[in-house]
Amino acid sequence: MDFILTPEQEAIRTAIAKVCAAFNLEYWLQKDRAGGFPHDFHAALARDGWLGIAMPVEYGGAGLGIVEAALMMQTITASGAGMSGASAVHMNIFSLNPVVVFGTDAQKKRWLPALIAGRDRACFGVTEPDTGLDTTHLKTRAVRDGDAYVVSGRKIWTSTAQVANKILLLTRTTPIEQSGKPTQGLTLFYTDLDRKAVEVREIEKMGRSAVDSNLLFIDNLRVPAADRVGEEGRGFEYILHGFNPERILVAAEAVGLGRAALARAAEYAKTRIVFGRPIGRNQAIQHPLARCWMELEAANLMVFRAASLYDAGKPCGAEANAAKYLAGEAGYRACEAAVMAHGGMGYAKEYHVERFLREALIPRITPVSPELILCFVAEKVLGLPKSY
Ligand SMILES: Cc1cc2nc3c(=O)[nH]c(=O)nc-3n(C[C@H](O)[C@H](O)[C@H](O)COP(=O)(O)OP(=O)(O)OC[C@H]3O[C@@H](n4cnc5c(N)ncnc54)[C@H](O)[C@@H]3O)c2cc1C
Repeated sequence: MDFILTPEQEAIRTAIAKVCAAFNLEYWLQKDRAGGFPHDFHAALARDGWLGIAMPVEYGGAGLGIVEAALMMQTITASGAGMSGASAVHMNIFSLNPVVVFGTDAQKKRWLPALIAGRDRACFGVTEPDTGLDTTHLKTRAVRDGDAYVVSGRKIWTSTAQVANKILLLTRTTPIEQSGKPTQGLTLFYTDLDRKAVEVREIEKMGRSAVDSNLLFIDNLRVPAADRVGEEGRGFEYILHGFNPERILVAAEAVGLGRAALARAAEYAKTRIVFGRPIGRNQAIQHPLARCWMELEAANLMVFRAASLYDAGKPCGAEANAAKYLAGEAGYRACEAAVMAHGGMGYAKEYHVERFLREALIPRITPVSPELILCFVAEKVLGLPKSY
């Protein structure tokens, strides 16, 4: 059992931290205030080849594992870029995993190099307004028409759709009542986000203003059959394949965000003098921060255990879900404790921790809620009846 990073992994962390250092807390505060996609940050990571960290070497990627990708994403959030930085590149890193695993060689040649180089931006269209976490009941329909499919429906929360030119889109091709199981009859596409057929409406939201989330109205979008990933009807299976790495990456991001908040809180506690001494000399300030450190580090062990299992090709569903749950909760608590340790200044934007707290809700809620993870563990690990 080895809990130590290799020199190569340490080097990845150092290199990513160096890229992030050019985008300081003021940069992200300004993005949080004014919105606007962090194009220069995205370009800086693309320029050094980082967007292809977990993509196959034959298509221009670095061919590394989810352990390295998780380290990269954690370093981004921990730098103070938070979820604004991580979400700007998250989709590039692993969300196209279904294409990597189930796409044809021709499709991968067509799609992956442009994504790795940062020329293409992809968004992820799964969640729907009337379906929620019950993904197999999604209503967006794709109907075959010659050498294409015609897609209509609605997606919600689709992040980066304001700047994306591509979409990974999950649709239903066979009505649910004609499918053997609800998980069948869904079909996955990776295609152009053609704004003539898709209206993209931004959702006003609590945090992470730099990275938009949207409501998509899809009206007779023509998708070439050549843009279908894998076989018709098996899209849910393909999406499931990417679920574990997705949860691991989000968990790693949550730990990084919590660490960023904690570091700021500890620094403030050392320098803020009240009643003639630093507030950090009081146990009431020390203990919550110390507890948060332990929770974050424990969650982090689960993150890298899940990542190592995934990279070794072993089952990791329970660990990936547990990591997402533990890191989401620990990250949120660390950000909350950091705000409280700052007292009134915790509520002021210039101290950054209120931004972290708002962003910490994202890895708690997405890509799956804590409640559904508890349901999953109860069923799959403890053998209790399925409750949802
Ligand atoms: C900032 C942000 C970015 C996002 N980006 C994307 C994106 O790029 N692409 C994308 O496809 N989606 C995206 N999402 C969507 C996100 O994955 C979903 O919001 C999330 O999965 C929860 O789904 P829902 O909102 O439909 O909740 P619902 O399914 O409506 O659930 C609401 C609440 O009820 C609880 N609940 C429901 N059923 C049960 C049950 N049986 N037992 C216990 N509790 C239950 C849930 O846990 C949750 O707390 C994003 C969301 C946010 C907030």
